[in-house]
Amino acid sequence: MSRVYNFSAGPAVLPEEVLREAAEEMLDYRGCGMSVMEISHRSSVFDQIIGEAEADLRELLAVPSNYKVLFLQGGAYTQFAAVPMNLMKNKVADYIVTGQWAKKAWKEAARYGKAKCIASSEDRTFSYIPDCSDLPVSPDADYVYICENNTIYGTKFKTLPDTKGKDLVADVSSCFLSEPVDVKRYGVMFGGAQKNIGPAGVVVAIIREDLIREDVLPGTPTMLMYKTQADAGSLFNTPPVYGIYICGKVFKWLKAQGGLVAMKKRNEEKAGLLYDFLDQSRLFQGTVEKKDRSLMNVPFVTGNKEVDALFVREAESAGLVNLKGHRSVGGMRASIYNAMPRAGVEALVDFMGDFEERHPVS
Ligand SMILES: *Cc1c(COP(=O)(O)O)cnc(C)c1O
Repeated sequence: MSRVYNFSAGPAVLPEEVLREAAEEMLDYRGCGMSVMEISHRSSVFDQIIGEAEADLRELLAVPSNYKVLFLQGGAYTQFAAVPMNLMKNKVADYIVTGQWAKKAWKEAARYGKAKCIASSEDRTFSYIPDCSDLPVSPDADYVYICENNTIYGTKFKTLPDTKGKDLVADVSSCFLSEPVDVKRYGVMFGGAQKNIGPAGVVVAIIREDLIREDVLPGTPTMLMYKTQADAGSLFNTPPVYGIYICGKVFKWLKAQGGLVAMKKRNEEKAGLLYDFLDQSRLFQGTVEKKDRSLMNVPFVTGNKEVDALFVREAESAGLVNLKGHRSVGGMRASIYNAMPRAGVEALVDFMGDFEERHPVS
């Protein structure tokens, strides 16, 4: 067996300890004689799995008691519709468009009400986070929406926008559990698990209780009403049992690493290695404004498409895989989520240094 360093933006690397534990439990989960894939979601075995997963997540993020934690399906993309359907009482919402995911969420919301783009960084290929200290927030906005970490462009909100008293909704798919956050500042946060938490197929949503209502938009599917899922403890229909089980193991792994304060420190160190290298490199350059750099997704280019392609190919041969950048940015992108070990980033930086020596800039 030989494992590579996987820099994919998602589905992404998972902690090796978690995968080993799951492998050991594959055929017989703790004496029940079945795999977790085979057990009933109504069994006491699963009750314990989902109960511990929720409790550990609440502890990691210090989730206040007036927030529900839901394990949902349909990807983060389904939340682009669920959010307006559940929250658009006045049928008005404000969107801050800092990348393709925020833009897709904004377009989706426009199907249900008046969705206004109140700030954007599209003028410079989403390479920065706009100033959100004094936005033209609509007086009747039901919420203000952000994508907190822009997976494709590699930018992150370092301070949350001033929403002028409106509820903040955040897509945190690619920065979930990468550092401590103050949950109270959000009305809703949601994220697909496959970036920083677990396998694809689970979406975690953390929602303030007063936003979980019956008076949703007419036509909202039962499955997309937050109330349905909150009342049923995420067990309204068959949940992604195996995915929730793996997420639960990742939460325990995070606690064993020292929780989110320790993860933040480690993530800053890892990203620092890569950004410091980029800042002194003659061949490679980062593509985003320094003050807005993400700790999770690091895009970079050489400025020459052929050299970029050669780098990606050679890196792959060296066991550093999935470094090709998103088609809208080009170049390379290294996603260095929680589960990417420091040794993986060190190997990447060493390889880049070596590549640079072999390919001097003319
Ligand atoms: C990957 C991603 C999505 C899409 O997630 P799906 O689970 O595929 O729907 C949405 N938002 C962000 C920020 C992402 O990184």
